[in-house]
Amino acid sequence: MLGLMQSQPLSISALLRHAARHHGTCEIVSKTVEGDLHRYTWSEAERRCRRLARALQGLGISAGDRVGTLAWNGYRHLEVYYAAPGMAAICHTINPRLHPDDIAYIVNHAGDAVLFAETSFTGLIEAIAPHIAGTVRAVVMMTDPAHMPVLPLPAGMKLLCYDTLIDGSDDDYAWPSFDENTASALCYTSGTTGRPKGVLYSHRSTLLHAYAANLADALALRAIDRVLPVVPMFHVNAWGVPYAAAMSGASLVMPGRHLDGPSLETLMNQERVTVTAGVPTVWMGLLQHLRGSGTRLDTVKRIITGGSACPPLLIEAFGREYGIPVEHAWGMTEISPIGTYNRPKPAHEALDEAGVFQLALKQGRILPGLDMKIVDGEDRELPWDGVAFGDLKIRGPWVTSGYYGDPPGSAVDAGGWFMTGDVATIDPNGMMEITDRSKDVIKSGGEWISSITLENIAVSHPDVVEAAVIAARHPKWDERPLLLVVPKPGATVTPESVLALYEGKVAKWWLPDEILVVDALPHTATGKLQKTALRSTYQDYYLTKLS
Ligand code: AMP
Repeated sequence: MLGLMQSQPLSISALLRHAARHHGTCEIVSKTVEGDLHRYTWSEAERRCRRLARALQGLGISAGDRVGTLAWNGYRHLEVYYAAPGMAAICHTINPRLHPDDIAYIVNHAGDAVLFAETSFTGLIEAIAPHIAGTVRAVVMMTDPAHMPVLPLPAGMKLLCYDTLIDGSDDDYAWPSFDENTASALCYTSGTTGRPKGVLYSHRSTLLHAYAANLADALALRAIDRVLPVVPMFHVNAWGVPYAAAMSGASLVMPGRHLDGPSLETLMNQERVTVTAGVPTVWMGLLQHLRGSGTRLDTVKRIITGGSACPPLLIEAFGREYGIPVEHAWGMTEISPIGTYNRPKPAHEALDEAGVFQLALKQGRILPGLDMKIVDGEDRELPWDGVAFGDLKIRGPWVTSGYYGDPPGSAVDAGGWFMTGDVATIDPNGMMEITDRSKDVIKSGGEWISSITLENIAVSHPDVVEAAVIAARHPKWDERPLLLVVPKPGATVTPESVLALYEGKVAKWWLPDEILVVDALPHTATGKLQKTALRSTYQDYYLTKLS
């Protein structure tokens, strides 16, 4: 027998309508590329989203079409975030920090019909335009007519101005209702080997994630909050903050492109920010600025950190010196992204100061709706004793089942578990702690670097027989690539000659900070590179050198 409750499909437009109707005067403040502060309300945002939906229709966008964005955190980006899924199209956020070849690959793989871009990316678009002409029909510059750039595009690809489009359309648009499993957003992750892979979210997964994220033991956004997502909207939907904020009616303070300590401190104090979320590298920059300038954060009540392990210093310094708790979360693009959040349980009430500090370093406990486990090499579940460590697996309604273009279910095992590529312990209270990573990548300042790509380029050197890249810990960027190369017998290899091979092939920030020429690399019994051995020898290389 079925229940007798109303079965309204969960939809992203309902979130926007809720924010506009019930929190219509709450603000969205954005630092623009031009440098000024734009401010309006959720109610005005909703009206402009309707105009944008009309404009998208005018551009021939219909249900299921992909709408690409190359944009910072700001109000126009937020409008695409809501307008595209609201009309059953898909908002495809693209990470502008990737190499142009990867960006072109992603746009083509997604089949983006229209590309929305901020003027900071004019040069990038000019460079990739010939390679995406087969799919992109129009590039919409997210600015006003006065700031439109000169941008030559291939024949058949239109150049449009965002504000002109909005001004030219009416808001006579009713958000349609459709199946809640309809795709809403697409985000590519480079967290795996090879080419980036697309994670395709649905309205249902997005809403369920937003509800769970807003629980009191997670992000817990409230109508009186003024939230500053430092985490970019092109990186897993800014951890779902744009949706969770609309759901709770919180005001949003969007930082635009400048995420350095002084810019963030000024914006946080000026705009009375109460909650903020971002990666540890950003918080290290902010901390350094606060300490150096003697400024404080007057209104910030919580700092949420995730994306890589939280350095103990952050928790200690923000807590002790500034009275601001740093809350630790863990997630992945494939998990929408929040999987765990660190909040205490009754068992933790008796902890002394040192115990509380140790606890805060853990990645946290699972959000309700999801489940997690750790397994050994034979996929046998390991005990939750805080000691046994194994591969972390996760499942639930906001976890991917397959990458874009692959069949549903192809990214999970027979039980529906998704292998995260993280290695973790889980303690008797269900607190998970990441101890290592089995996926072979480097995470620098919250962004991925593929070690395999770097190794493949290194071995294209005529005198290199073998190369290995490992993630070495770094005081500023969390991790940086360290490259080890083995010369052919009798040959001499200089680090400079290897470095020269990367020119034009990868983004500058992917370049290994150092290249070590060694006689041999360790191997497993089956002849594979023994990265674990390399990591234990070299993982503190930069820390030691820079200390
Ligand atoms: P992404 O898909 O780019 O968000 O990256 C997800 C990966 O980042 C995870 O699988 C982890 O390897 C890493 N990560 C995310 N949050 C944390 C955290 N709090 N501590 C350690 N690693 C993290």
